[in-house]
Amino acid sequence: MFGASLGSLNLKDLKLKTSQEAPAYRGWEDLYRQKWTWDKVAWGTHCVDCYPGNCPYRVYVKDGLVWLEEVAGTFPTIEPGVPDMNPMGCQKGAAWSQLLYAPERVLHPLKRAGERGEGKWKRVSWDEALGDIADAMLDAIQELGPESIIAEGTPAQGGMMAGLFFNRIIGLLGGVETDVNAVINDFSPGIYLTFGKFNPASSNDDWFHSELILFNMVNPVYTMMPLYHFWAEARYNGAEVVLIAPDCSPSHVHADYYFPVQPGTDAAMALAMCKVIIDEKIYNAPFMKDQTDLPLLVRLDNRHFLRGRDVKAGGLEDQFYFFDSKTQQVVEAPRGTLALGEVDPALEGSYSATLKDGKVVEVVPVFELVKERLADYTPEKAFQICGVHPDSIRLMARKMAVKKTAILCGGTSFKYYHADLMVRAYLLAGALTGNWGKKGTGPIEWSTGMFDGPYLYFVKQEPGPEETKRILKQVDEVRKVVKAQDPTLTDEMVAIEMNIAMAHTIGMVPPHFFWYHCCGYRENWNKREWNDPSMVRPFDDYWKEAADKQWWKGVDRPGPNTPTRVYIECGGNTLRRSRGGGTQLLKNLWPTCNMIVTIDWRMQTTGMWSDIFLPVAHHYEKVTFHIPTPHVLTLTFSDKAAEPPGDVKPEAEIVFLLAQKVEERAKARGLEEYIDNQGNARRLDGLYNALTLGGRLTEPEDVADEWVRDSVLTGALPEGTTLETLKEKGYVRFVDWGISALALNQAAPLKPDETHAAFRWHVEDKLPYPTATRRAQFYIDHDWFLEAGEELPVHKDHPKVGGDYPFQMTSGHNRWSIHSMNITNRIMQDTHRGRPHLVMNTDDAKARGIEDNEEVYVFNDGGSFITPVKLSPSVRPGQVIAYNGWEPLQFREWRGPMDTEIGMIKWLHMAGGYGHLRYSPIQWQPAPSDRAIHVDVKKLD
Ligand code: SF4
Repeated sequence: MFGASLGSLNLKDLKLKTSQEAPAYRGWEDLYRQKWTWDKVAWGTHCVDCYPGNCPYRVYVKDGLVWLEEVAGTFPTIEPGVPDMNPMGCQKGAAWSQLLYAPERVLHPLKRAGERGEGKWKRVSWDEALGDIADAMLDAIQELGPESIIAEGTPAQGGMMAGLFFNRIIGLLGGVETDVNAVINDFSPGIYLTFGKFNPASSNDDWFHSELILFNMVNPVYTMMPLYHFWAEARYNGAEVVLIAPDCSPSHVHADYYFPVQPGTDAAMALAMCKVIIDEKIYNAPFMKDQTDLPLLVRLDNRHFLRGRDVKAGGLEDQFYFFDSKTQQVVEAPRGTLALGEVDPALEGSYSATLKDGKVVEVVPVFELVKERLADYTPEKAFQICGVHPDSIRLMARKMAVKKTAILCGGTSFKYYHADLMVRAYLLAGALTGNWGKKGTGPIEWSTGMFDGPYLYFVKQEPGPEETKRILKQVDEVRKVVKAQDPTLTDEMVAIEMNIAMAHTIGMVPPHFFWYHCCGYRENWNKREWNDPSMVRPFDDYWKEAADKQWWKGVDRPGPNTPTRVYIECGGNTLRRSRGGGTQLLKNLWPTCNMIVTIDWRMQTTGMWSDIFLPVAHHYEKVTFHIPTPHVLTLTFSDKAAEPPGDVKPEAEIVFLLAQKVEERAKARGLEEYIDNQGNARRLDGLYNALTLGGRLTEPEDVADEWVRDSVLTGALPEGTTLETLKEKGYVRFVDWGISALALNQAAPLKPDETHAAFRWHVEDKLPYPTATRRAQFYIDHDWFLEAGEELPVHKDHPKVGGDYPFQMTSGHNRWSIHSMNITNRIMQDTHRGRPHLVMNTDDAKARGIEDNEEVYVFNDGGSFITPVKLSPSVRPGQVIAYNGWEPLQFREWRGPMDTEIGMIKWLHMAGGYGHLRYSPIQWQPAPSDRAIHVDVKKLD
């Protein structure tokens, strides 16, 4: 498409060696042999959100073009007796170079030449494009303040060297960057509510140690191809795999058991498992007593925890109590350790506690309340809700009680409206059976951290190790001051406190304020029928209460009177990704914006609706790093194997140029200083220097080298690691966690010859958890949770999000793309039908007279789309599956499933003012749900 109008990327256009003499050959075999030669080999990987990714590839270059890549397979064995991670790769990665030369690749800055979305563009210079953007930013600052400039937080498409630079310049301007974890809907509130962090995740190879593996919230055969072999190998090692899913998902062929749960009813099944474990007394009492809040005392008069402030004048808000079975007294639960010493906390019974005013109240351990709640969850009753046979529930419960169990928390664990309840119920089963903090166990969600260099870079004043050491010394001093105020804080807790303090100074904010004020979601969120019935007041009442109590103070940006004027997305493809998609954003956000910028390597739906399109270099055409994860534990490097084509530039260079352009235009306007929406004075004449450390690091390679060297100084990377060593080897394994809270959340030793199992500091060393109770917490006595009956895990029916329609539409990553990337890759398309489809149960389709591959009309109260269906008996009646990742522009009228997905958030996730229920970057915040949306499906007229 764009190749045709702007000059496609091929040998002829690039004026490569077209005049070379043709080699002598004897037949087609020689041509074939000639094909398998190359000029150069470089390291590469695919720095996109293909979590966990980090697959090292060898990238082969011929005549200046990347024409082939292959998995490197060079990871060593870490733990003797445990398989290594090789080969690490997937079919998308193996065909990635197709995207470099695909027709949708954009080679020059583009400016809209017609109406938005009309598809008319003109090629412009970087100077003109960046000048227009700079002017729009300055206009926005002068009209409404910098909070009218919004950058979408995304993992971007260029790894660590991409989105961070845009975020930084937006932050320097006083603009707003939406928190990536809510934007991508990957925040798991259930794990966070329980542990005070959502992201502890064992390394992939640790799964080999599992004895029971629950594929309960994930379809790993589609979504975790490079790692799948560990589950297969674990089965050779004696492990059993259980698939729990509404559809007979593609992972079922590798499972030992399949439990066909009704959509959104996992909590009922898991709570019934808990009941079996308790009734049969096969629970792990020592683990429950020292790791969880199950022995903490709750007052029956108000259903709140018994706290220090109840018991004595000046008592602490976060002092909790046990009943000691040995001394028969109510005693303080230690705050600085999980070790119980001589105390034996009661899990059962009813006791008396004397309050500071002399009043005597009845108190019970949380475990008693859990038992009370579970009375409603016999396997037989749960069967009525979830559809899993009572015998299967009992079987699973008994297995979990004796086996090292891993719980895979993929998309289902955060994309259902009540996903938090489902996860809390599974984690309760984990708590009763001691299933985290040892090898082969625990919940597994996404995670990152460890690569400290980028974050240090943005607080450094100048390059070099001395400046880094100065900052690390400052960090250490702050840490000491915080610890001096409360010596019971762990290093992890201190790092979290520092992270929260930083949240107010960087531009990142939870995006629900942006969605509510600027994108029209307020109307949807206030629809009572789309919310849970236990939301007893209108949504806006909770919104107002959260505001009045200042639970989100400092990050409640943009404010209600600041419509968006400039919107920038870098690799996020907002209109595809956002729940509500075009229905919501084109109607509400787009009209207020004077400038919409898409930064990407390929034209996609959001780009088509933008004013300016800035083309970026692919990985393979710039230096960058994959987002590191504890799953793989390496910093994986992607080198500049080939020159970027056309006018394409890497993101870092674009931001440096933009900073210069903003400074230049601001100077011309006489606008060098202004007051931002928070009342802070900001200057515009230091942007470039702040981004390039005084103009001394202007080349992306130099910045990358600085990041690597600084990560050595924090102790995360081994001594001697530099960009040069990465160019030789392609990756390096982390040797320690470094300084970030995200990394310390792993709470486990990182050893060179062992798999990583999260939570070990808690379980082995008895370090407290960063929750309100400092224990894994199942009882949340926040008033909103008590009002909703969600103080403990419970099953709630999925609300009728989208309206009262007969089908529930589920989703998941598809097999053929990383989000919408690769979806137009010709090789990938040839492996399937090559266009979007909705998977539908064969009998449901027959009842409606719908044939396979026939186009149907899918609709609800939020929107509609037209798509072909793919019939499959593996989908349960009443369910339809719209796999994630199709580009809206692949559908008629550019409307796809995202237009019906509504984007509901759960009101309880706006709760604050309570222990760990407070915002820090990529942690506690509301995120939209998109599973089990109610729709109807009709034949087209
Ligand atoms: Fe690995 Fe992701 Fe590349 Fe696939 S796309 S090979 S998972 S890095």
